[in-house]
Amino acid sequence: MAQEKAKPEDTEVYTPVPPKVTPGKFEYKEPPSDALILFDGKNLDEWVSTEDRNQPAKWKVDHGVMTVNKTGGNIETKRTFGSYQLHIEWRVPQNITGQGQARGNSGLFLASLGKGDAGYELQILDSYENQTYVNGMAGSIYKQFIPLANPSRKAGEWNVYDVAWKAPVFNEDGSVKSPAMVTVYFNGVLVQDNVSLFGPTQYIGKPSYSIKHGDSPIKLQAHGDKSEPISFRNIWVRPLPAW
Ligand code: MG
Repeated sequence: MAQEKAKPEDTEVYTPVPPKVTPGKFEYKEPPSDALILFDGKNLDEWVSTEDRNQPAKWKVDHGVMTVNKTGGNIETKRTFGSYQLHIEWRVPQNITGQGQARGNSGLFLASLGKGDAGYELQILDSYENQTYVNGMAGSIYKQFIPLANPSRKAGEWNVYDVAWKAPVFNEDGSVKSPAMVTVYFNGVLVQDNVSLFGPTQYIGKPSYSIKHGDSPIKLQAHGDKSEPISFRNIWVRPLPAW
């Protein structure tokens, strides 16, 4: 029998569906004194275009909020990071249309490994009332870990990710010494509990640690779907010592 070509659908998982949880009321979280501010509502000075790191980030900043420019491509931090704690707020626009992966899709790449979507993606999506594969919903480590719960707020309201990222460590020969690990709170609800990643995100096929890398930028996704672009605000990071 001829071997079938791997398809994106091969790594989509539909059960178990995480329970819906109504999060507590949104509370503005002021950055702690040692945080590095990546976006304070004023400008994109800390960001560059992923496709050409010599070019400024081409997303829109207005009224204290940055909004994805779908034709402007992914953006990532000028600085690089190893392990860190991160806070980021994101909002799906109230007039969102589309369904599944084509409804408010973006992503937080915990470590960017270059152009396009190379890296480790914590999915951002409108998952309030939007069916898709559960390892691709908001709060998932895309195509690796289903979130433990679905505390999504409805379109038009702000969501929050608080992330503790442990960067992977590699041996001299490129083999992985300790995998990347991540804990994620989504609107104050634990959705990823110190999970060990299998490697950078793979849209098709199984992930593996095939790329030895060190400190990396943090990246935000301009996803190619047709739905209305999502917005971000109050992004800060606390670099942590290597572990
Ligand atoms: Mg995405």
